[in-house]
Amino acid sequence: MTELPNQSSANPTDRIVAALIVAAGRGVRAGGDIPKQYQVIAGKPVLRHTVDRFRDHPDVDAVVVVLNPDDSALADAALPDDVARVPGGDSRAASVAAGLAALPAGTTHVLIHDGARPLVTDAVIDRVLVALKSAPGAAPALAVTDALWRGGDGRVLAPTSRDGLFRAQTPQGFDLSAIRAAHAAHAGDAADDVEVALAAGLDVTIVEGHEDNIKVTLPGCFARAERLLTKGQTMDVRLGNGYDVHRFGPGDHVILCGVEVPHPRGLQGHSDADVGMHAITDAIYGALADGDIGRHFPPSDPQWKGAASEIFLRHAVDRATNRGFRIGNVDCTLVCEQPKIGPHAQAMRTALADIMALEVGRISVKATTSERLGFTGREEGIAAIATVTLVTP
Ligand code: MG
Repeated sequence: MTELPNQSSANPTDRIVAALIVAAGRGVRAGGDIPKQYQVIAGKPVLRHTVDRFRDHPDVDAVVVVLNPDDSALADAALPDDVARVPGGDSRAASVAAGLAALPAGTTHVLIHDGARPLVTDAVIDRVLVALKSAPGAAPALAVTDALWRGGDGRVLAPTSRDGLFRAQTPQGFDLSAIRAAHAAHAGDAADDVEVALAAGLDVTIVEGHEDNIKVTLPGCFARAERLLTKGQTMDVRLGNGYDVHRFGPGDHVILCGVEVPHPRGLQGHSDADVGMHAITDAIYGALADGDIGRHFPPSDPQWKGAASEIFLRHAVDRATNRGFRIGNVDCTLVCEQPKIGPHAQAMRTALADIMALEVGRISVKATTSERLGFTGREEGIAAIATVTLVTP
């Protein structure tokens, strides 16, 4: 059977399209300790969101990222192995030229895109690709709809016509040989690649952009981008409980929620017998439907003898994190007549917060007696009950 070419496809079969993501800038206006393209929003670095938009597009054959060489460690952590990386130059134009030179052999068209635009949609990419069938250049933009003024010294000087004015976005798409020639002929920097293309006399078609295709530039943009990236996602909330008991034996202290508390007897157990931390750890496993401490750290295994229980708690927190959850809050109740917990509760919350990398305000440690009833009332041991919530993202 003969396969007919799909005439409506955005990408005829004779084209090979590469996305060139420009991420070599310093992003100083966005604030923060690291360049804006590596700051995490909605669970991933900004740049990873951007790269994934193109990797996931069916008509994009390769993704190449232009980086600042100083950022190679950040890039290693942010990018998947199958994305090629190219060191950038001294200016945006030089970085793009370096990227254009490094595209895979056989590439016929390139989509040049800002690394800090993580919200580009398939539809915008499609519109650029369709327009490139009949023009050497195509770029998304939005018509200016607000009134425009010229101003100075905080005052309006004159109204200005918005007729024919557009707000430029990316990806800006080009026939590869045409834009390579344009960059080779261009002296100095340029605000974008359309400027370089026009200087070389190339025709650039305007296609409809998208209001959400924002460039993360200022500190407030991160919150807006995060809102847009998580819009429509359903939050997953998990609740888990844990319960544990350890009996008293010889000793001169107990360890409760990571804090050593003087006491005329100790708690017996295979590990350090931190009954509170065990209950919290089991609550996390419970929220994940992931068994209990005994399954992950069998008492029959001698390597856990006398172990600090924070090993168990860190393990449970890691498993939650690896499954895309963060801990919403922790509430732990210790049940005992002695020792008195109140004087140590704050230190316990702080110790747990350190281990779990969580704010103290999300951790509660409290205590109750059992009115001298039962095994805790007879001071035969200490019980602990804990509840945790896990939430996404
Ligand atoms: Mg235990």
